Amino acid sequence: MPLIIDTVPLLSDNYAWILHDTATGNTAVVDPGEADSVHAFLNTQGYRLNDIFLTHHHADHINGASALRQHYGARILGPRDQRLQSLVDENLQEGDLLSLGESHGHVLATPGHTLSHLCYYFSNPSALFCGDTLFSLGCGRLFEGTAEQLFESFLKIIALPPQTWICCGHEYTLANADFAFHVDPTNHALKERITQVRSLRSKGQPTLPSTLEQELATNPFLRAPNAQILKHLRQEKDTF
Ligand code: ZN
Ligand code: FE
Repeated sequence: MPLIIDTVPLLSDNYAWILHDTATGNTAVVDPGEADSVHAFLNTQGYRLNDIFLTHHHADHINGASALRQHYGARILGPRDQRLQSLVDENLQEGDLLSLGESHGHVLATPGHTLSHLCYYFSNPSALFCGDTLFSLGCGRLFEGTAEQLFESFLKIIALPPQTWICCGHEYTLANADFAFHVDPTNHALKERITQVRSLRSKGQPTLPSTLEQELATNPFLRAPNAQILKHLRQEKDTF
């Protein structure tokens, strides 16, 4: 039986992601930037929290973790990073296997936005919880890593199955659309995606998750090998 995936909007534009293993009822949250919204959602579903996954140390991804741990007796899993030392119960790294009840996955180290950033992959359904590494139509700012490191991180993501759900940490899709269109104006799939995104946002609905296939067709940072886009990107000063 598969994992049920839900998103909880919180703060100004963050998403926490809820993973519920239907076989066992085990439940996890990724990046609870605030506790109340997550708690309220879990209550409406009748879920009890087992695991709290953190992708990186930024406050808007971790600030609800401690209160949720206390309330549910959950454990916090995340990167090995001094800045998370007092919060994380179990450190994870590249290649570590993940289990939530009968659902399984693994950890991807994806430096770029921060040096210790992790993404969490589960296989049924195929879903990537990618924090601030990749956004729909864009990517996270390079606060700590280099462009080369981020590119290597993208290569790991690109290798996942195309139908993989891309579950990002922020609702930035519409904000990213202008730049994406600017560097890739003839991309028909991108035009269609922007129309869809405008419509979803006008109804207050999330544009996420997207799929890897969709990002490969529309996200300029995954399409950079396309020569025309590369030319535009080189001309942009604030590429990242
Ligand atoms: Zn961040
Ligand atoms: Fe963030």
